[in-house]
Amino acid sequence: MKKNYNKKGGTRPDNISHAHNEGDVKAKKHLGQHFLTDESVAEKIADTLSYSGYSHVLEIGPGMGVLTKYLLRKDTDIHVIEIDRESVAYLHEHYPSLAGKIHEKDFLKSDISEIFGQDQFAIIGNFPYNISTQIVFKMLELRNYIPEFSGMFQKEVAQRICEKEGSKTYGILSVLVQAFYEAEYLFTVPPSVFNPPPKVDSGVLRLSRKEDFSLPCDEKLFFRVVKTAFQQRRKTLRNSLKTLDLPENIKEDSIFGLRPEQLSTARFIELTQKIQPYAV
Ligand code: SAH
Repeated sequence: MKKNYNKKGGTRPDNISHAHNEGDVKAKKHLGQHFLTDESVAEKIADTLSYSGYSHVLEIGPGMGVLTKYLLRKDTDIHVIEIDRESVAYLHEHYPSLAGKIHEKDFLKSDISEIFGQDQFAIIGNFPYNISTQIVFKMLELRNYIPEFSGMFQKEVAQRICEKEGSKTYGILSVLVQAFYEAEYLFTVPPSVFNPPPKVDSGVLRLSRKEDFSLPCDEKLFFRVVKTAFQQRRKTLRNSLKTLDLPENIKEDSIFGLRPEQLSTARFIELTQKIQPYAV
C-alpha cells in the first residue's frame, strides 16, 4: 500500500498519533478527527452564528471541546452530539456545565427531535470531513427546524455549497442548499492549526434559512430533478433527464437545451414546475 507522508515531517506516516498532551483524546482517523489547536479560530467560528430567532444550538463533533468552550459563553442552550466515547468522557470531565447535554450518538443516525422536540435550533461544528456531504443532506431534511447553520468543512466542500451557477464546481449541494438558505463562504483555515493537520485547507461557511423557504413546486421532484441532471453534468437536460420519461413536446422548451451548471436555483424550480404535470 502506498504510504502518505506528512509534508513537514517528511518521514512520519500521518496515520499514527501526533504529539499530544497527557490526557488528551488520541486522534482517530476513521472518525475524521482533526482537533483545532488555535483558540482564536475556535472563537471566530463560535461568532459566526447570530444566536437570534432560536434558543438552542447543536454542536456536531465537539471532540475535546475547543469550540464548545466559546459556545458556552453565548446566551443560548448548547447541546453537543459526539460519536467518540473517549471524547465524550473528556467533555464530561472538563465541561461539567454540559451535564445532561452531551449526547453520545452518531449524528447521521440519531433522531434530533428527542433533544429539541419541535423547537428551532442552529447547528455548528468543526465537522468530521469524512461525512460532510451526509451532514448537509441530513441538515436539509431537517430544514424546517434549522434556521441557521455554520461551521467548517474541507474548503472545497464549503466553496461548492456557496458556489453560483456557471462555475465548474456548482453542483447538487449548491442548488439544494441555496434553494432554502442564503450561503456565505466566510474564511479559509490552513492545515497548520489542527492536530493532526488535514491534507487540505478548510473553509468556514454560514447558511441562513430564507424567510420563505417553501418552494413553489413539488419539493421531492425538485430534489430528483437536480440530482438526475447533475449525474451527467456535461449533457443537456434533454439528455440527462431521459430517465424521467417526459413527453417529446415539452423537451422543445429552450431550458432543456441547457446544461445543469447553467441553471440557477430559481431556474431549477421553473424546470421542476414544467416537468411536474408529466412526472410519475
Ligand atoms: N470540534 C473538534 C473536533 C473536530 S474533529 C475540534 O474542532 O477540535 C470531528 C469530530 O466529529 C470528532 O470529535 C469526531 O469524533 C466527531 N464525529 C465523527 N463522526 C461523527 C458522527 N457521525 N456523529 C457525531 N460526531 C462525529
